[in-house]
Amino acid sequence: MKHKKHRIVIVGGGAGGLELATRLGKKLGKKGLADITLVDAQNTHFWKPLLHEVAAGSLNAFEDELSYLAQAKWNHFRFIPGRMASLNRGNKSISLGPIIDEQNRQVVPARTLEYDQLVISVGSTANDFNTAGAKEHCLFLDNRKQAERIHTTLINHYQHAQACEDDVSKLRIAIIGAGATGVELAAELHYAAIELAHYGLDAIKPENLEVTIIEGGERILPALPERISSSVHKQLLKMGIRVRTGQLVSEIKSNGLLTRDEEFIESDIRIWAAGIKAPEFLNQIAGLESNRINQLIVKPTLQTTQDDQIYAMGDCASCTLTNNGESVTIPPRAQAAHQQASLLAKSLISQVKDGNQSLEFNYKDYGSLISLSRFSAVGNLMGAITGDMMIEGTLAKWFYISLYRMHQMTLFGKFRTGTLILKDLIIRTTRPQLKLH
Ligand SMILES: Cc1cc2nc3c(=O)[nH]c(=O)nc-3n(C[C@H](O)[C@H](O)[C@H](O)COP(=O)(O)OP(=O)(O)OC[C@H]3O[C@@H](n4cnc5c(N)ncnc54)[C@H](O)[C@@H]3O)c2cc1C
Repeated sequence: MKHKKHRIVIVGGGAGGLELATRLGKKLGKKGLADITLVDAQNTHFWKPLLHEVAAGSLNAFEDELSYLAQAKWNHFRFIPGRMASLNRGNKSISLGPIIDEQNRQVVPARTLEYDQLVISVGSTANDFNTAGAKEHCLFLDNRKQAERIHTTLINHYQHAQACEDDVSKLRIAIIGAGATGVELAAELHYAAIELAHYGLDAIKPENLEVTIIEGGERILPALPERISSSVHKQLLKMGIRVRTGQLVSEIKSNGLLTRDEEFIESDIRIWAAGIKAPEFLNQIAGLESNRINQLIVKPTLQTTQDDQIYAMGDCASCTLTNNGESVTIPPRAQAAHQQASLLAKSLISQVKDGNQSLEFNYKDYGSLISLSRFSAVGNLMGAITGDMMIEGTLAKWFYISLYRMHQMTLFGKFRTGTLILKDLIIRTTRPQLKLH
């Protein structure tokens, strides 16, 4: 009987999943040691931390998207488009929902896919905590389509104001949540207002774009050290961005939002950028352990607690490690997804090649950086030599960009990443600084 090749299926080709598929494809797929399959609900990969730039228009998503089929061909893995809907641990298979086109026609029927080892890396979305009116009256920033929708809405307001000058001259945008996403988006929108006026859409003057960030906690960037939060807060105020802390939003309406203190904040555009949760379908899927935000609970080896052949990583996993007697839960960040992908690649390769045990994940926090658009960046670097060092300005901006370049390096190697950097520099001199349509 012909010996079947070992099958590793990765669901979700985001910051973590695509890096893992690429590494496994090169080391196992290429040598015929295992079949590596990547499944994603989309046909192209877009690195999520760039979404706020797409929303504001400072980045054109088409230039930075990557076709899964092409990446699979170049790196010896297989790509299957589809959205995972359920899991059958008994016969080790997952089911993918049908693919339906925009005219509601079925393009691909529902399918099942068998695995020997399964990695779930389906990321997270914003958590609106079921706030009344949020789904109906807010825009979200979880994927490329949503980011493009924010951009189109913004441009539509500007074009309307331009055509009916005496009608609208002010645009009020409310961003709910002052985590990294909300703060970076606010700064990016401030930059967009300046650029739009520069290119002639000047009916709404930059000072008349009123961006307000509303945060439930006592300070912005609650997950970061206080000194970073206070430095960023000052810089936001300098840009004219309004910051309202200690304000819990209780209801969203079509023309604004209501806080728990019964204050009504009027706004033309509302963007929900608070909290995260893993996709609903993961909630106790096939008896796997999950938490209240649907994340799968994993051991330090990234194996799920109930099934050693199923791994989870990135934003959809909850991984708690013990470090010097202290419990640390890994934060939902691209940096964590990147490190988990690289550990899991080593672990799965050594299991397939040498029959070794799963390796344990050890998280290194290299610090956090907040980009304030073209103006600045603020953050801290954590290292053996530097300790916990706060950085600002160009140096911080440089480190911020390097996170994306590291992702590209894993996907494309050093030479192609170098070429892409060069391409980006050339494009900057030949195109407007903002997407104007
Ligand atoms: C605007 C914004 C800015 C950010 N900035 C930063 C930053 O500066 N630094 C930082 O460290 N982190 C940042 N983050 C967080 C970072 O993007 C995430 O932590 C990271 O992308 C998580 O990686 P992941 O692989 O777990 O999931 P993702 O990168 O979200 O990828 C998940 C993938 O799974 C696919 N998928 C989802 N459901 C299914 C399904 N049912 N079936 C098949 N496929 C599915 C999706 O299409 C997607 O490709 C930011 C996030 C946002 C939204």
